[in-house]
Amino acid sequence: MSEEKKIEKISGIKGMNDILPADAVLWELFENTVQSVLKSYGFQQIRTPIVESTHLFARGLGAVTDIVEKEMYSFEDALNGDKLTLRPENTAGIVRAALEHNLTYDGPKRVWYNGPMFRHEKPQRGRYRQFHQVGAEALGFSGPDIDAELIAMCQRLWDDLGLQNIRLELNSIGDANERQQHRLDLIAYFEQHRDMLDTEAQRRLYSNPLRILDTKNPSMQAMVNDAPKLFDYLGIDSKSHFEGVQKILRHNSIPFTINPRLVRGMDYYNRTVFEWVTDELGSQGTVCGGGRYDSLFTMFGGKATPACGFAMGIERLLELMKAAGEGHSPSQCDVYLVHQGAEAQMQSFVIGERLRDAGLDVVLHCASAVGVGSFKSQMKKADVSGAAYSIIIGEDEASANTVSIKAMRADGADNHQITLPFESAVDYIVDQITGSSETDSSCDNPNHIHIHH
Ligand code: ATP
Ligand code: MG
Repeated sequence: MSEEKKIEKISGIKGMNDILPADAVLWELFENTVQSVLKSYGFQQIRTPIVESTHLFARGLGAVTDIVEKEMYSFEDALNGDKLTLRPENTAGIVRAALEHNLTYDGPKRVWYNGPMFRHEKPQRGRYRQFHQVGAEALGFSGPDIDAELIAMCQRLWDDLGLQNIRLELNSIGDANERQQHRLDLIAYFEQHRDMLDTEAQRRLYSNPLRILDTKNPSMQAMVNDAPKLFDYLGIDSKSHFEGVQKILRHNSIPFTINPRLVRGMDYYNRTVFEWVTDELGSQGTVCGGGRYDSLFTMFGGKATPACGFAMGIERLLELMKAAGEGHSPSQCDVYLVHQGAEAQMQSFVIGERLRDAGLDVVLHCASAVGVGSFKSQMKKADVSGAAYSIIIGEDEASANTVSIKAMRADGADNHQITLPFESAVDYIVDQITGSSETDSSCDNPNHIHIHH
């Protein structure tokens, strides 16, 4: 017996998931829907790097936030010592890019993004270390109309994705000076209840007391509920801005509840904040969060530029879509090419290219380590592929310059096999498929029409 050397397997990183082909259908459906909804509001896509300077997040999100304190993947570039961070969110990066390229020089801009974010959290259902967000940022807009538009856009997206039971929670956290007065009163209140604060709250008492309101500690709930409410500190401008948002939402029948304890995790927010929440995902029920961030541009050294945006967690939304029965695997192709023999293999390749020229999706049976396999095993693959037709070229067909065509999806008498001259096979299949796709109403997935004429 020869001694086999054991080779250690390399695994993926905890909390960072592979998205496999079986799930790709759902991702594509989600991404296509997002793209068309956002486009219908005039939002344009922007793509920024996944790595930014660590500095950007520390300054942008606030030093005493969950993300900056304990969730960032930060490292030193081994070659030049630069301090870098895998982006934990994308608003900071987009504001950086907007400033760097003077994106708002000729007026406000609506942009959106889609991509991976990284946070070192405890992995669990709906909470990963690499996860994906779609977000929208409206840069340079100050009125309540854009806040309401962003919210309406989310509502339309949930509707188009077939998602119900996502409710909107809304709040206004006022402007910096209003928050400052509230902060002083809040600290005084917490000082009076010092014995009830947990260590996390103790630590945040002077650095970020607003975040104590967001505690999940059950023993602090009652005390926190009676704390001074930021809402009572809002001045007339903040109040009327908030009224404006609500008025548009009501006028357009978009339901919401006001949650006076909603504060959001990043320091950059002011005035409008909102979250979309569902009860169907356990404790990871927030699928989207956003709000106004009028001071972020100046925090990055730019000219004052009001702005508002949101980010949604794709994994959480896909879980809802799955529960709603979306994302059935559509067929892989229109036509599967089955062949036997060297001559037949050459002809299959040629007919495959011609079918693709005609706009069809085609899978050619290619050899694996054990060769191309028997007709029977190839036909099994053709069946699994979901193809409407298989084209079969055996040695007889190859020498007679013909092909056999089998309708894979028709029942009974239609499930026959015909033989045609090689040259007329493409026209025949294109006719069959375009004819049937025009009348086929059983196909409920709009992405599943393979023919593109
Ligand atoms: P949470 O309170 O769940 O930690 P958050 O306030 O940190 O959320 P945001 O930074 O506002 O989240 O991000 C917007 C959305 O991104 C969240 O509502 C959620 O849907 C999603 N999200 C945030 N962190 C994760 C994660 N680690 N894994 C998966 N999705 C996430
Ligand atoms: Mg978080």
